[in-house]
Amino acid sequence: NMTGNIYIVVFLFPCKSMLLLRTNPYKCTKLVLCSFQWEEISGLDENYTPIRTYQVCQVMEPNQNNWLRTSWIEKGDAQRIFVELKFTLRDCNSLPGVVGTCKETFNLYYQETDSEVGRNIRENQYVKIDTIAADESFTQGDLGERKMKLNTEVRIIGPLSRRGFYLAFQDVGACIALVSVNVYYKKCWSIIENLATFPDTVTGSEFSSLVEVEGMCVGDAEEEADNAPKMHCSAEGEWLVPIGKCICKAGFHQKGDACEPCGRGFYKSSSQDLQCSRCPAHSYNDREGLWRCDCEDGYYRAHSDPPSVACTRPPSAPQNLVYNINQTTVSLEWSPPADMGGRNDVTYRIMCRRCSWEPEECVPCGGNVGYSPQQAELVDTYVNVVDLLAHANYTFEVEAVNGVSDLSRTQRLFAAVSVATSQAAPSQVSEVIRERVQQRSVQLSWQEPEQPNGVITEYEIKYYEKDQKDRIYSTVKSRSTSATVNNLKPSTAYVFQIRAFTTAGYGTYGPRLEVTTKEEASGTSRTHAQILVKQTGLLPRPDQLIVCSSASLPVRHCGYSKADQEGDEELYFQFKFPGTKTYIDPETYEDPNRAVHQFAKELDASCIKIERVIGAGEFGEVCSGRMKLPGKRDTSVAIKTLKVGYSEKQRRDFLCEASIMGQFDHPNVVHLEGVVTRGKPVMIVIEYMENGSLDAFLRKHDGQFTVIQLVGMLRGIAAGMRYLSDMGYVHRDLAARNILVNSNLVCKVSDFGLSRVIDDDPEAVYTTTGGKIPVRWTAMEAIQYRKFTSASDVWSYGIVMWEVMSYGERPYWDMSNQDVIKAIEEGYRLPAPMDCPPGLHQLMLDCWQKDRADRPKFDQIVGILDKMIRNPNTLKTPLGTCTRPISPLLDQSTPDFTTFRSVGEWLEAIKMERYRDNFTVEGYSSLESVARMSIEDVMSLGITLVGHQKKIMSNIQTMRAQMLNLHGTGIQV
Ligand code: AMP
Repeated sequence: NMTGNIYIVVFLFPCKSMLLLRTNPYKCTKLVLCSFQWEEISGLDENYTPIRTYQVCQVMEPNQNNWLRTSWIEKGDAQRIFVELKFTLRDCNSLPGVVGTCKETFNLYYQETDSEVGRNIRENQYVKIDTIAADESFTQGDLGERKMKLNTEVRIIGPLSRRGFYLAFQDVGACIALVSVNVYYKKCWSIIENLATFPDTVTGSEFSSLVEVEGMCVGDAEEEADNAPKMHCSAEGEWLVPIGKCICKAGFHQKGDACEPCGRGFYKSSSQDLQCSRCPAHSYNDREGLWRCDCEDGYYRAHSDPPSVACTRPPSAPQNLVYNINQTTVSLEWSPPADMGGRNDVTYRIMCRRCSWEPEECVPCGGNVGYSPQQAELVDTYVNVVDLLAHANYTFEVEAVNGVSDLSRTQRLFAAVSVATSQAAPSQVSEVIRERVQQRSVQLSWQEPEQPNGVITEYEIKYYEKDQKDRIYSTVKSRSTSATVNNLKPSTAYVFQIRAFTTAGYGTYGPRLEVTTKEEASGTSRTHAQILVKQTGLLPRPDQLIVCSSASLPVRHCGYSKADQEGDEELYFQFKFPGTKTYIDPETYEDPNRAVHQFAKELDASCIKIERVIGAGEFGEVCSGRMKLPGKRDTSVAIKTLKVGYSEKQRRDFLCEASIMGQFDHPNVVHLEGVVTRGKPVMIVIEYMENGSLDAFLRKHDGQFTVIQLVGMLRGIAAGMRYLSDMGYVHRDLAARNILVNSNLVCKVSDFGLSRVIDDDPEAVYTTTGGKIPVRWTAMEAIQYRKFTSASDVWSYGIVMWEVMSYGERPYWDMSNQDVIKAIEEGYRLPAPMDCPPGLHQLMLDCWQKDRADRPKFDQIVGILDKMIRNPNTLKTPLGTCTRPISPLLDQSTPDFTTFRSVGEWLEAIKMERYRDNFTVEGYSSLESVARMSIEDVMSLGITLVGHQKKIMSNIQTMRAQMLNLHGTGIQV
């Protein structure tokens, strides 16, 4: 029944007759009554319902032993058997005269056997289960009737080991009526729990035992991983402790205790999912019970895409592809595609093809081309393609790809550009071989770079001592693919790197090669410590010696002289990392002659031909002439001479300029050809600058150049100054008169020296701080406390800009130097020259910032001018602005007084209108009268706040300056 009890039908057998025992829920048959005392009798139960009972009541006689036994009961699966007895028992007190013989209990026995064993009771074969006593007894009713009280007792037997058993009742002299015997066992009934079926299960043999049962998943369900379904059947026939479960397979979902397939248009990708989901975008299905949906045509699912994401397609082509060429590097940039295909894993790949010019045939670029950051799987929308060939035609295709691009068979979509590379520096020199390693020298050879990109005219070998802390390095040049580096220290590790040079410039250095020189043989001692700190001259190796031939002179060495080489005078430069050459002050040399030969080539006088005098220098005439070096073309040169009768100091000061100039190598710095120190006159030979000095040149060509030409000249000067300042050289006398112009209008910075330059400059005057200074060109801090820096050179550069834009006008016109100093200190600055673009004047004003840290650096100036040249629109002068000078004052936020019509308006503009009455009362009714006011005048108006006094006064000064400029009267302080 539903409580889990299984009833076994038993029969009691009376020995005399066969009778049915009381009503029974199941099929009833007979009981076996094996005693003559036990009788089958009809009676009434409590409810007066007729019942049939087995009774015995031998209370009058002692020593009763009356047995009643059941039929053989097959136990089946049962291990633990319940025996429920219903009976009545007569109270002995209610029976007169039975004392001593009447009992009120009976005994319950059982016997296990594998089969039926006849009807003889052998007492010793029975095992006693219990002595049963009644809770209730027959009592006499109020009306004297016998009322029977029914007792119910349950006893359990087991575990049982045989196939079956008998039960037996032993009466020992009681008055008993046995109403029913129910024999049953318990089991847990089959159920479905957590989508697992658990079968009918008989309880265990002990009261405390739980029977573990494994469940079986229902159809279309599967066991959850590592969580198989289990339950426990208790002794009471109850399912306890469910563990684990089954879950519906992919494509099925749970409905009640079963799994049902997902409907059309739905899917369930995994047993883990609870519900079926609708097909994601661009996918469908037309069957039931599917774990995923199929993609629509033209849409795909990447291998890594879960079934839950929409089907996607390849992206469209990248947009707005632009490129930029820098020699052999092409930078490509683009915008993302308009359609990303519904994915966010779009990357880009580059296809590079090199094309012949005519007819256009393209081949893949191959492995020599480099891509930065990479060629494919680019996340960002740019790439640099490097190591292309110079002067070659390339096509680049940029394709956007996403996770499904490779699945699609539709046509590739890409953006493409065709690009032609320009001239480029050579590629790296990579294969360097150490040919011979000696104590003091190393001979190296190498292969020409893979991509020379032009004719290699020279190689530069850079080297340094590996263990030297500050990494001062030196260079040697060679025209062939081998070189010997001399003057090394024995047993020292050196690092060498080589780069090639063509007209396009230097290539990058190749990889580092480490070479350790041989040990010094004992006995040869020499100090080498000074070699690397020593500055040696630009002298060639012996094989580079140049021979000058002339008809009048027999073969004779000229040009480079060997006399000074003394072994250690090689082609050395001194560098400091990170690679900028630094300027070395020749004054730091004890012997100035050594300095000059360190930095300047000694030329033979026979190679120089003086033609005519072109100017006068401090030490002698400046001439033009020709120089013919052996194997080279005859060139025009300028020759500065040292007049006869010079003192040693004069000679030294004269040559000092060459020692400085010889350290520079820049297209906007005048180039030193060499010096003649071993003949008379002593000469400094410089490249010839056909148009002479810039100030005179501009005055001569007043108004003849376009703004772009003028800015081009300024750009050149700024580039030369950038180079000098990068080298740590402070010019101190930058002015248009010290810029030289060649026939191509290229401007070059010249006039180098130390104090000499300034002594030499007619513009230089003695200042109160001592020393001569070209006041109009010099920054305030340099005038005030001789603080000369590249920032003070920037100030001078601003003045040069002004000179250039005004075609050589004298800065501050005819103001006295004293007035200039005063005006500058008070904040006045030169106004914009006529027709000067405002942007240029702004740059001048920036160069004249009081605080030198606020001035631009030469590098920035070059950048600004480059930008202007690239965008000539920025150089257009707004109509009318340059016929009248722009405000000459630094403070750009100062209001322009020309826009005010009254003192009141002006006060309002400077937010001082509260003092309007103070001005009116004292009679300051016009702006002109206000412009003449002094600080005392302002104070006398009754303005007591110092901040307000200062503000008003500074605005008055501004107004005054604006008026002066407006009237074109110059500055009067
Ligand atoms: P300096 O002593 O350098 O100021 O030179 C005096 C003058 O000689 C200059 O003002 C120029 O006119 C002229 N001069 C100097 N160097 C050169 C040169 N390299 N080329 C042409 N003219 C020069």
